[in-house]
Amino acid sequence: MNNNDPLKNALAQLNQAAKKSGIKPETLELLRIPDKVLKFKIAVRINKKLEIFQGFRVQHNNWKGPYKGGLRYFPAVNLNEVKALAFWMTIKCACVDIPMGGGKGGITIDPGKYTDKQIKNITLAFARILADNIGPHKDVPAPDVNTNSKLMDIIAQEYSKIQGQKQLAVVTGKSVNKGGSLGRESATGMGGLLVLNRLLELLGKEKKQTKLTIQGFGNVGSHMADLAYNHGYKIIAISDVSGGIYNQKGINITKLKKHVKSTGFVKGFAGTKPITNQKLLTLKTDVLIPAALENQITKQNARNIKADLIFELANGPTTMEADKILHQRKIKCLPDVLANAGGVIVSYFEWKQNLMGKYWTEKKVFSELEKLIVPALEKIYQIHLREKVTLRQAAYILALKNLEKNKPKDFIRTLKHKN
Ligand code: NAD
Repeated sequence: MNNNDPLKNALAQLNQAAKKSGIKPETLELLRIPDKVLKFKIAVRINKKLEIFQGFRVQHNNWKGPYKGGLRYFPAVNLNEVKALAFWMTIKCACVDIPMGGGKGGITIDPGKYTDKQIKNITLAFARILADNIGPHKDVPAPDVNTNSKLMDIIAQEYSKIQGQKQLAVVTGKSVNKGGSLGRESATGMGGLLVLNRLLELLGKEKKQTKLTIQGFGNVGSHMADLAYNHGYKIIAISDVSGGIYNQKGINITKLKKHVKSTGFVKGFAGTKPITNQKLLTLKTDVLIPAALENQITKQNARNIKADLIFELANGPTTMEADKILHQRKIKCLPDVLANAGGVIVSYFEWKQNLMGKYWTEKKVFSELEKLIVPALEKIYQIHLREKVTLRQAAYILALKNLEKNKPKDFIRTLKHKN
């Protein structure tokens, strides 16, 4: 395992919080290893040529409910990454106390090299392989990096075909006209905004004066930027895979969205200066929001971070070594397991609506989201003050206590014969 191995990072976070959470050593041991690890060969014919991809699904824990977590298409997808992401889903669902467990999956693929139609066919092949292992009460996938509602529609349709009946609740993040929930698209950003607003209140900071820097302008980063901009925050820098842009006076996100729609990237946006992704992370700003990939804040750059608060919208953007440095430097870090939980909370609402055969308005979705995510932050903040631990450790302590409460009594098979 290398130092930036997300699994190593995830398990170190678990160990650190476990000491203070009072959970039984046995529970800790059970949480260290996923329930089930699935590794698939996905064989498809593309332009008459056979191509084989590696697919994964990790089912980490289902004490609170069915396994839940996204499917990621990315060249660097590997088993340790998927295990870590599945583990974080368990912690996330437990942290906001929803009846869902932790899972994650993906394909090792560079989606940029394939047409939309080819990606749809690869997804169809993946859905057929996944079908035996997923289900509304078993395991419920969702979109993640480089996957979207259209691909979720394909999985729901194929699964239903195999089962011989319509089963909308098998995946979430579907298109709204195919059983998706209103508000799911922007849910992670909306959850982030609600948590950021309340956190700044708890810290006694004024949001109008708060400058944000956002790494990543995909689903999560662009919605967070848009919602925060319309809420009066000043966003001074943004980046995507093409590089970053910067304007100390603030970036007009409404216009930036139009620019990205026509050019595909943030670079070249009028009235901004170019900035590298590395420089963006070390800018003088109030809140730094990583919203792209894991391992962005590392021991190499943590000493140069000038933000007062790191707000983790991406999963696992801060390594353990960096976390320690940030703590020593008194830079607060609101962890991913709460900051980006809006996505899974609204996924849970989608699943619930599908099972009940109902559709909620967007207003209801967001008001229910607020009722779950803001109290979770308040509990974490209390633990942070009371136990004198970091916000991350506090979030883990809350999650571990909730998991301990839900651990089935008959989970461990005890052999009753005498030795
Ligand atoms: P996405 O694919 O829509 O967007 C990713 C963004 O990151 C893109 O703008 C891309 O250009 C940018 N990017 C990629 N490499 C980069 C780099 N080296 N430097 C800067 N930017 C880079 O993905 P997403 O759905 O927005 O997910 C982003 C993160 O949020 C991931 O860690 C994901 O696991 C997490 N997350 C997503 C959701 C969700 O609802 N989509 C929910 C919870 C957490």
